[in-house]
Amino acid sequence: MSDPRPNLLFIMADDHAAHAISAYGSHLTKTPGIDRLADGGMRFDNCFCVNSICTPSRAAILTGTYNHTNGVTGLDTHFDGRQTTFPKLLQAAGYQTAVVGKWHLGHGGIHDPTGFDYWDVLPDQGDYTDPELIRWKAGETTDPEGERRVVPGYVTDIITDLSLDWLAHRDPDRPFMLKLHHKAPHRNWEPAPRHAHLYEDLEVPLPATFDDDYSHRASAARNARMRIDRDLKLEDLKVPTPEGLSAAEAKRWKFQRYIKDYLRCVAAIDENLGRTLDWLDAEGLTDDTVVVYTSDQGFFLGDHGWYDKRFMYEESLRMPFLVRYPREVQEGAVNTDMVLNVDVAPTFLELAGVGIPAAMQGVSFRPLLQGRTPDDWRRSMYYRYWMHIDPDHAVQAHYGIRTHHYKLIRYDGDGHGPEWELFDLDEDPGEIHSVYDDPGYAEVVAELTQELWRLQAELGDAP
Ligand code: CA
Repeated sequence: MSDPRPNLLFIMADDHAAHAISAYGSHLTKTPGIDRLADGGMRFDNCFCVNSICTPSRAAILTGTYNHTNGVTGLDTHFDGRQTTFPKLLQAAGYQTAVVGKWHLGHGGIHDPTGFDYWDVLPDQGDYTDPELIRWKAGETTDPEGERRVVPGYVTDIITDLSLDWLAHRDPDRPFMLKLHHKAPHRNWEPAPRHAHLYEDLEVPLPATFDDDYSHRASAARNARMRIDRDLKLEDLKVPTPEGLSAAEAKRWKFQRYIKDYLRCVAAIDENLGRTLDWLDAEGLTDDTVVVYTSDQGFFLGDHGWYDKRFMYEESLRMPFLVRYPREVQEGAVNTDMVLNVDVAPTFLELAGVGIPAAMQGVSFRPLLQGRTPDDWRRSMYYRYWMHIDPDHAVQAHYGIRTHHYKLIRYDGDGHGPEWELFDLDEDPGEIHSVYDDPGYAEVVAELTQELWRLQAELGDAP
């Protein structure tokens, strides 16, 4: 390639928790395809989203801004594509740009993808089997809202096929930026037919907090409707729960049904990532291509007795984030600094040599990729979940901060005062017991509360 700028391949799954990746030490499954990126690059152990829900995280990644800035606070606040995004800036700088797979930021008019030469996206959540996709390609598609058609097959395979096909037909003399966005392993966790019986004879171990009774925290955890034993539906489990089981046995049975289908969906992603990396190798593109594997947020895999995300608790806050770029990133590196989904846009721009707009609130972590952490790198991060008591999951709106040692969360109730939680992550990594009211932590509470107000002021958020 005559252009020295790197190719940027951003592969993002939907709801793939780091603790379901073997490179992150998962006790649940093996992911040899994804692990190739950890072996050949850097694993980020403290990558967090600023709002653990699909649509808002996608907007934060595109714009490098928090959700109070980009306006995408929940699932129904669709993205205004007139905003500045990193794909637009890369396209203007001569990159070939595309997004394939899950978009989930709205459709039609200002909500369709902008800044891409080619987009081929699932409408809304999309289907696992024989999905409809909406295709638009510069110079080819006359309808500005794209052309819809059904593509036979399994969605994870199709998204990879379409991506590799676009790559194969690109201009080899200009760099590319491809957002390859899987639908999987989003609810309701439908595996590919070839994986229907994978793990059938396995008993997946239960997480340590599986039987959490929510008794030492704010009321939000107790009131949330995302419990394995109570809230999973027939379409999630696919078959009726056997009769005659005790409550404890039924909960364990449902967990096995849920987690195995989830891991089967992950297996197809893993295979397809391996296929994509093989393709880069065969084309001689590996050294010149930054490959990222991540997810829009984490997920509860039976942790706290839950499925789903939304809470600022560790399992849903943490995003897997692996980066391979042989020209700059050492093989097998591990980074524990705090990086955020809002940092992706500035990082990609810097890697491409494109100026970072002052309005972006994230920070480029290119120095971290090179093994140099700046002395003033962030030691706290701000989080805000806005979708107050949505009918399905009933998770109360909340905001808070996390440092390397503590997490402070505030829930603003309806008609009653705020409830707070403080977790000492060193003493209580499972976040079972809030120490907010423990006099021994009074000083920590005071410091973290000040830091929370400071971050809100700095970022311009005023809940
Ligand atoms: Ca998601």
